[in-house]
Amino acid sequence: MNDLLLIHAPVALSQENLDKMISGFKLKFARQKLKNELDKEKNLLDLAKLLNKQYFNNGLKIDSIEYSTNQNSRFGCCNYRTSKILISHKIGLMPKWVRKYVLMHEMAHLIQPNHGRRFWDIVSRYRLTERARGYLMAVGASNLLD
Ligand SMILES: [Zn+2]
Repeated sequence: MNDLLLIHAPVALSQENLDKMISGFKLKFARQKLKNELDKEKNLLDLAKLLNKQYFNNGLKIDSIEYSTNQNSRFGCCNYRTSKILISHKIGLMPKWVRKYVLMHEMAHLIQPNHGRRFWDIVSRYRLTERARGYLMAVGASNLLD
């Protein structure tokens, strides 16, 4: 598929505003494209199903889990009430074993909303938890999980 961006704009629009508009559109399309690629290549639902089976005895009900390209300050979030999980596209670009930890983290929130001892007991079922936390710390992102 060719990426063609066709914009109709009023003649009265200044070049400066037009440029702003175009870069805004470009960014939006680039994000959507990345999200589509990640959804296809690094599907979160497949991985979540695997983890659910392996670590939760298929006991978790996940309403939806998908990438988000507009979470710049967070790597993941989980809505405990609606069982919807969002994972930053940045995680999609990291190694799979780190992605697994982030999923484990958010999935554990479906059982335990806070970061108490019970929460970490659940997350630690994944044996690379500490290593993944170290990885995120090294890339300056350890505090971005909720
Ligand atoms: Zn958390």
